[in-house]
Amino acid sequence: MSDVPLTGPLQRLIDEFKKLPGIGSRSAERIAFHLLKADKTEALALAESVRDIKEKIRPCSRCFNLADGELCAICADPRREQSQIVVVEQPKDVINLEGTGLITGVYHVLMGHIAPLEGIQPDDLTIAALIQRCRSGDIREVVLATNPTMEGDTTALHISSLLKNLDVKVTRLARGLAPGSQIEYANRSMLEEALRGRREL
Ligand SMILES: [Zn+2]
Repeated sequence: MSDVPLTGPLQRLIDEFKKLPGIGSRSAERIAFHLLKADKTEALALAESVRDIKEKIRPCSRCFNLADGELCAICADPRREQSQIVVVEQPKDVINLEGTGLITGVYHVLMGHIAPLEGIQPDDLTIAALIQRCRSGDIREVVLATNPTMEGDTTALHISSLLKNLDVKVTRLARGLAPGSQIEYANRSMLEEALRGRREL
């Protein structure tokens, strides 16, 4: 849009915004000019919060969900049933499943899925830590809530085979979710249906 050279810092901010998902040149310029006009406190609050997510957020030491301390807010909540573990691929899935209000248990975030073609093997995920949790804790049910994609199914099957010899009920979300879809984008009613209809593997 602008062929006119902008002053260095402003151009740099625009270039940074352009790297963000869903932000084109026009939006990048609009946001940058908005911040330039905005009150200093408001603009710096944005800068601070970007710094905070990089410096303060780390994986929960138990479930690998996003945390700003040793444990995430869910693991640290004494009202959650520690005996039910819902296994998901990524932290965004936790947020979406929490939106249903149906999960009373806790989570385990795999940090991806098994995809041999992309070079992602079971050891690249947090599967060993999950098995360890199931061995050491008093776990009643493991709900495999990986995506209904080929990779998600492969991952679920792999985990269920590892849990076979443990005294743990292993369930998989029902097919309320369309094959190939992602939990990240599923709406609340689809997730509710998938959770209510989960079946033992
Ligand atoms: Zn946690």
